[in-house]
Amino acid sequence: GPGGEPLLEIREIAKHFRGLKALKDVSLTVRRGEIRGIVGPNGSGKTTLFNVISGFYRPSGGRVLMDGRVVSGSRPYRLSMLGVARTFQNLRLFGELSVRDNLLVALDRSRTRAIWRYALWPVGVWRQERRLHRRADELLDRFGLTGFAGAAPGSLPYGIQRRIEIARAMAAGPRLLLLDEPAAGLNGEEVRQLAEIVRSIRDSGVTVVLIEHNMGLVMSLCERVTVLGGGSVIAEGTPAEVVADHAVIEAYLGD
Ligand code: ADP
Repeated sequence: GPGGEPLLEIREIAKHFRGLKALKDVSLTVRRGEIRGIVGPNGSGKTTLFNVISGFYRPSGGRVLMDGRVVSGSRPYRLSMLGVARTFQNLRLFGELSVRDNLLVALDRSRTRAIWRYALWPVGVWRQERRLHRRADELLDRFGLTGFAGAAPGSLPYGIQRRIEIARAMAAGPRLLLLDEPAAGLNGEEVRQLAEIVRSIRDSGVTVVLIEHNMGLVMSLCERVTVLGGGSVIAEGTPAEVVADHAVIEAYLGD
């Protein structure tokens, strides 16, 4: 719970795009085992913050730490190796490949460091391949996707596609999972299933940060919520605390 050690520390992060200050002096700490919500009106800097944490954007100022170690300025692949995985607001799946192949691609990417072990050993290659397939099967099973293994994601309901995207992020074996609006476009039943999936991910030892507009989901999942407004943290607390906060109400009225 929130009593855990800090895993992710965001310290005085700024991100400027030419004249536009998308993030100004943003600081927050996410503890191990937490499910943290990030909310805020459109344009408040939520996705920019994810892009900074995951190495897609280099911050204009400030630092990001994982386990007390500075990681800002690292490239996305490096952050992935350090245990940071993410999903995207707009799904980024290979629509024509099978669901299983989408997972295999992600699993294959996450093993590159071990290549030297079997590069000169064909039997090792074969074993590695079998291991990848076994891990793909485990992911399919864990996320209720076994029945869709051979289908192309593009042909599946949106809620299933979102689940594949989460399974794909989990293929990297992350310690920190960033979910960008995972409930967008989902119906009530799909949101309920999503909540269960996110809880099970947290229970397996992965810390989760999610950007979400669905306040019902945020209320049910998150012990703490950080509210961004105009590129700054305008409130932080329990879901009940932040929805009653004047600065938060004002920020949303202008949305
Ligand atoms: P949110 O996710 O809260 O809706 P964003 O982080 O997407 O907000 O955007 C914050 C601000 O930064 C917006 O004004 C947006 O137009 C701007 N912005 C985001 N990414 C870029 C970029 N790559 N280039 C220029 N401006 C950007």
